[in-house]
Amino acid sequence: MAKSPETEHPIKAYGYAASDTSGTFSPLTFSRRATGDKDVRFKVLYCGICHSDLHFAKNEWGVTTYPVVPGHEIVGVVTEVGSKVETFKVGETVGVGCLVGSCRSCQSCSNNLEQFCPKMTFTYAFPNYSDGTLTYGGYSDHMVADEHFVLHWPDNLPLDSGAPLLCAGITTYSPLRHYGLDKPGMKIGVVGLGGLGHVAVKIAKALGAEVTVFSTTPEKKEEALDGLKADHFIVSKDVDQMQAATGTLDGILDTVSASHPIVPFLNILKTDGKLVLVGMPAVPHELPAFPLVLGRKVVGGSNIGGLKETQEMLDFCAKHGITADIEVIPIDYVNTAMERLLKSDVRYRFVIDVANSIKVPSDTRSKV
Ligand code: NAP
Ligand code: ZN
Ligand code: ZN
Repeated sequence: MAKSPETEHPIKAYGYAASDTSGTFSPLTFSRRATGDKDVRFKVLYCGICHSDLHFAKNEWGVTTYPVVPGHEIVGVVTEVGSKVETFKVGETVGVGCLVGSCRSCQSCSNNLEQFCPKMTFTYAFPNYSDGTLTYGGYSDHMVADEHFVLHWPDNLPLDSGAPLLCAGITTYSPLRHYGLDKPGMKIGVVGLGGLGHVAVKIAKALGAEVTVFSTTPEKKEEALDGLKADHFIVSKDVDQMQAATGTLDGILDTVSASHPIVPFLNILKTDGKLVLVGMPAVPHELPAFPLVLGRKVVGGSNIGGLKETQEMLDFCAKHGITADIEVIPIDYVNTAMERLLKSDVRYRFVIDVANSIKVPSDTRSKV
């Protein structure tokens, strides 16, 4: 049961929240905890819009507690650190992704897999493990988080186009590594060329893969091949193109946000190939045994990544010049952005310029 943030959290914050399943956003004043010993408090500069924000705002997964202030691709600048914070300083640029808490002692936590901790706390719309209050994300003026869940921002990584890496980057980097789909020369497919998908193409290319994009949008072909440097582009609704690719790929990352058939992608895998689901449509997939059994194929899933791997991914992307292709928007554009995201009408990630567009009421602003 979430406790009241007003009694537990003394510092006012201001952001954009959805309050019901319409998913319509409006300004909200709420509260965040005071800076604890191990906490880093920071002003939000940029925040990406992930499709999960849309799923949550409309309660498509049936788990949303309203009001929800989404945002888990957050870049900011540190304004205060607790007395026991060891690795962050005021004025430093930092990132926060999808996690702000975990138990820190279970097997998953011990293995740097905080994303699988039974007490893991998502950055928004989740009861905070430490005090039971609801979390609020980065569509807001500032954040506070335990330093373990704060990332060091690489010097040469842009703040705006780098922000989406905190979810889209780690969600695609981690499964490529974990499932052994990171060997140079491998043939890798990416299904769905959206926020996650376009970053997946860039990361897979940097790992040395030959990359095939599967898209429902033929207009993305030129962008995929010329802009993102993918090697092949297949319109996933074109039966002939799909047939021609049968048995060719070592692994496929499926990033699609909506219900769609996955069997056609199983057919495109080689023997022992792996289909990894990272997209999370609310409707269950249909998964017959035959295409799996007859090629010893594997279907797996993957949930973001742990903090250590997220830092590794940021450093990898900085080294390889990988950022997201973005459209920067003011925060009061968020409702239009969500409508456009639903129609896949963005190339390829909206990023909110929070610091330059949020109009924080004066009685809130003075506290941060
Ligand atoms: P996005 O930017 O909206 O991209 C999704 C893409 O899927 C679209 O651009 C579109 O690509 C394709 N698509 C959309 N509707 C489709 C349909 N009906 N049939 C087939 N393809 C369709 O979303 P995103 O931010 O990348 O997120 C994608 C999914 O990953 C969401 O479900 C999100 O919640 C989930 N996610 C999971 C994790 C995790 O840890 N596992 C982390 C973050 C996000 P084309 O136009 O190319 O077909
Ligand atoms: Zn996300
Ligand atoms: Zn744990």
